[in-house]
Formats: sequence, C-alpha cells, structure tokens
Amino acid sequence: MIPPGSTIGIVGGGQLGRMLSVAAAQLGYKCHIFDPHPHPCAVDVASQSTCADFNDVAAIEAFGKSADVVTYEFESLPVEPLKVLGDKLRPGTRSLAIAQDRAVEKKFIEDCGGRVGSWRAVETFDGVIDAVEQLGCPVVLKTRRYGYDGKGQAWIRAPEQAEEAWAAIGEEPAVAESGVAFFAEFSVIVARWADGRHCFWDSPENEHREGILRLSTVPCSDRVAPQVAEAREAALRIAEALGHIGVLTVEFFASEDGPVINEIAPRVHNSGHWTIEGAVTSQFEQHIRAICDLPPGITGLMRGGATMENLIGADVERWPELVTERGAHLHIYGKGDARPGRKMGHVTRVVR
Ligand code: AMP
Repeated sequence: MIPPGSTIGIVGGGQLGRMLSVAAAQLGYKCHIFDPHPHPCAVDVASQSTCADFNDVAAIEAFGKSADVVTYEFESLPVEPLKVLGDKLRPGTRSLAIAQDRAVEKKFIEDCGGRVGSWRAVETFDGVIDAVEQLGCPVVLKTRRYGYDGKGQAWIRAPEQAEEAWAAIGEEPAVAESGVAFFAEFSVIVARWADGRHCFWDSPENEHREGILRLSTVPCSDRVAPQVAEAREAALRIAEALGHIGVLTVEFFASEDGPVINEIAPRVHNSGHWTIEGAVTSQFEQHIRAICDLPPGITGLMRGGATMENLIGADVERWPELVTERGAHLHIYGKGDARPGRKMGHVTRVVR
C-alpha cells in the first residue's frame, strides 16, 4: 500500500490531472505533474512539476524517482519512454498502447468478446475506397492515433466524399467505421485494483455535439438501462485482459442490437465528472485509491442522480450566472484562453 503522505506522479497536466490532484490532496498525497507545456492547469493544484518532453527518458526517469507511484491522465503519450517507470506506472503501458491506436483497440475489444461496429484499417486512398465499398455509407474515417473530441475524424456520407474526407484527416493511417445507428450513447466507468477487485458507477447517458461531450445524465434513461449489464461485463473483460489498475472508461452506443463499443479510455473520463458531487466516491478519488492500493470507496449515488454540463469555449463566460445558481457545482479549469471547442469547465447539478 502507498500511504497518504506519499507522492503521486501524474503524466499530463490538463483538467483530468488537476481533478486527480485535488482528490489526491484530500487524501493527504502530494502530486508531481509531468507535462511539456510551461504552465498546464494541473500545476496550480500540485506540489511539484516537471516541464519536459514526453520523449525525454532522462526526465521521465528522474520524475519517476521523485514519486512513489505514477499514473497518466491522457492516452496520446509515447509508450516506450514510459517503460523506464516499470511497475511504478499504474495503469501500465499495455492499457496505453492498446487504447491509443484505434485499429489495435478495436481488434483487442473483439478478442475480448466485445461488440464493435464494422470497421477496416486503411493506409491509402485506395484502401478508403475499398472500405467504403465494403462497409457502405455512412462511414466515418478516424486517424488511428491522436484523435480526440471528434478531431482527426471525417464522415463519408456518399462515395464521392471519400477524397475530401481522406484529405481532411491528413491522409494518415486510419480506421474506417460504419456509422452506427444508435438511439443513445452511454459509458461504463470501472475502477479495478491489482488483485482484481473492481467497482462500477451508475452509467451516464452522454450527449455529444460536433464530436464533443456536452451533457452526461445519471441515471440513464429506461431505454438504455437494459443494456448496462452486458456493457459492464464487456468493460470488465477488457479491464481484466489489460491487467488494468485504476479507472477505465468504455464508451458505448446503445443500438437496437444491444451495446456497441465506440472506444476505450484507460483513465478517468469526462462522462464521470458528475461523480465528484453525485457519487459517494468520485472517479478521481477511486483512481487514487486503486493505484495506491487503498480500499475501494462506495460508488453509489449521493442522491437521485446528477447531470453534468460541459462548458466548452466561450460557455465559461456564463460563470457569473452559474456561480449564483442554487445547487449548481461550478468547476473552472483555469486554462486561460477559451478557444472554440476547448473544455474550460463543467457544472454538475445533483438531482434530489
Ligand atoms: P469519438 O471521438 O470516436 O468518441 O467520436 C465522437 C462522437 O462522434 C461519438 O460520441 C459519436 O457521437 C460520434 N461517432 C463516432 N463514431 C461513430 C460511429 N461509428 N457511428 C456513429 N457515430 C459516431
């Protein structure tokens, strides 16, 4: 067990690192943030920071020596340099390597018995044409790596759009996915301990706009609820096959044929932010508990449910009104420039 008072290293200094640091501090841990940017928002709430490139092995090694355990808050990280951290890194590099490449990820999900939409790996424009022919429109092209919040994605709704879509994603190795006919989206958030203990939160139903999460609601609707048990089984099989330690999130489409997996995030997730006020133990605290091998906290709802609304770009300018709204829990990430599409904060409303 890694006791309170120890230091937790966090690779990545965005809002997830910030909320992990706050949860860690509450339990008496100190956090050391590693990020290539000069002042990432997690540094404001951490006790130590290192500004270095994610490929700088010497810097990662020194960072690892300063910490008792190391975790990461996003998956687009070079895997090789992190191997120097050995068992100190939780979750390990396997979770990272699989989740950061969409083709590897989909194959892995299928091998775990999870359902994904039809897909093809594509490397060339001819490959895109073949995939569109085989899958039928609509198809969404997604770069294998470095895509998030709808970035690195382009829809092909008719074959003549293939060329434009291929150019739009930068002609990079990609997956072509059939457009899934879903009636809702939801996620399963699971925390797993090294010895296999695990727990789930209520599954949030998630609404996206322009590829970005806007709203998460718990409990999910009556239409989605019957799909949660099967989805949890799939998510747990994935967590076990990865040997995952900490929080893992699996995003699902609720379709008439049952739950279809969209993607895995080997970390705390935006659709779990409601757990800070809406659940007895938040996803952030539970992640800290799991990587430090403290006992699991209870994950049940505090009250009847909750909604979490993301504040994207200029939405954050609504803060004077939100901060006076009774019962609204306002979180501002302190990220500075409110560029369009940038996640600047969120508001959670706990339902009685
Ligand atoms: P992603 O970045 O892969 O999570 O995609 C962002 C959002 O785009 C998803 O939450 C869906 O709303 C939509 N989307 C992505 N892939 C598909 C798909 N294969 N079929 C239908 N909608 C999709």
